[in-house]
Amino acid sequence: MKLAMIGFGQAGGKIVDRFLEYDDRTGSGIVRAAIAVNSAKADLMGLDNIPQENRVLIGQARVKGHGVGADNELGAEIAEEDIDEVQNAIDAIPTHEVDAFLVVAGMGGGTGSGGAPVLAKHLKRIYTIPVYGLGVLPGTDEGGIYTLNAARSFQTFVREVDNLMVFDNDSWRQTGESVEGGYDQINEEIVRRFGILFGAGEVGDGQEVAESVVDSSEIINTLSGGGVSTVGFASEDVELNTGGGLLSRFTGESGGDDDLDAANTTNRITSLVRKAALGRLTLPCEIEGTERALLVLAGPSEYLNRKGIERGRKWLEEETGSMEVRGGDYPREEPEVAAAILLSGVTNVPRIKRLQQVAIEAQDNIDDIQAESEENLEELVEDDEDELEPLF
Ligand code: GDP
Repeated sequence: MKLAMIGFGQAGGKIVDRFLEYDDRTGSGIVRAAIAVNSAKADLMGLDNIPQENRVLIGQARVKGHGVGADNELGAEIAEEDIDEVQNAIDAIPTHEVDAFLVVAGMGGGTGSGGAPVLAKHLKRIYTIPVYGLGVLPGTDEGGIYTLNAARSFQTFVREVDNLMVFDNDSWRQTGESVEGGYDQINEEIVRRFGILFGAGEVGDGQEVAESVVDSSEIINTLSGGGVSTVGFASEDVELNTGGGLLSRFTGESGGDDDLDAANTTNRITSLVRKAALGRLTLPCEIEGTERALLVLAGPSEYLNRKGIERGRKWLEEETGSMEVRGGDYPREEPEVAAAILLSGVTNVPRIKRLQQVAIEAQDNIDDIQAESEENLEELVEDDEDELEPLF
């Protein structure tokens, strides 16, 4: 499916920038337009792939290109004040060729955390196509203010988008990595998962037509109904077939080999589906109770079969208890078979409940510290007997 991607804030901009690179590298054709919005000039300058004219600096009157720190209320305010500048950039893209908007932001910071929900609300008012969010949760080691920002942004962002897909940095943190190096790897994981998912609905001219194609309406139907989504993923390397037919077909004369290949293909698919659903999700949660799901099997077409996908789909129905599990394949000439599973409308998410608890504690602490420091300052400034008088 074709998306207009808008990265809000530093994380959002970097992730959209990475999606463009992925699109070029794989020819997936999902990024119809890419825009970055930020209040920090340096962050916009640090992007590699988003065209200069699609980089929008907001809040210049208020913060002079230096960003909002981690103040997401200020982030929301300047987004509202300068929404016309963002709209000007959107006006320049052919929205009639776009299936949906995807607003991407880190929810722990300031500009994206506050601005992304404001933009989503604006887009929903103006356009009829769906507006999706991709929100990144901060690591638990980032501290109270980031957690509080994320908890408040999450509440607002979910309300303003047609569906909020969540990626949790905490689940993907690697020890011993520099933060920057770590983000590079994490961003690659993000674009790979979402790239396969959205790429499924975008089979280009000349590409093989899938046995059971996933088209963009199936992605949209899975995401419709709103709420929060998470994505599971698993892949296995395979050899690309260069000569026609599976490699093993060269060695055997009997039809038995084909049966064996078919059985292997089916087994590979079903085990990938299990691994994807039960392994690390972009947002860890209980998959039972998921409202809707979409299973996408990507790989060289000779490694995909209807039976495998059908079995995987049935298994997902049983595991989630959902009556709305869609599935299909996405043929592409990469030397791997990959299963990407979109679980939409998840509600049993202990990670969010913990985040909210820590956020409330941080909020109480901040209030206490503020009250205390006001008291301390007053004590310092005022003389004990109140004999001195200020000038005015
Ligand atoms: P903003 O520019 O004020 O919107 O804030 P940032 O985007 O810099 O940071 C917000 C949060 O996003 C941070 O707390 C991190 O959790 C996360 N973050 C920052 N950069 C990246 C990145 O490149 N990738 C990912 N996955 N997360 C990031």
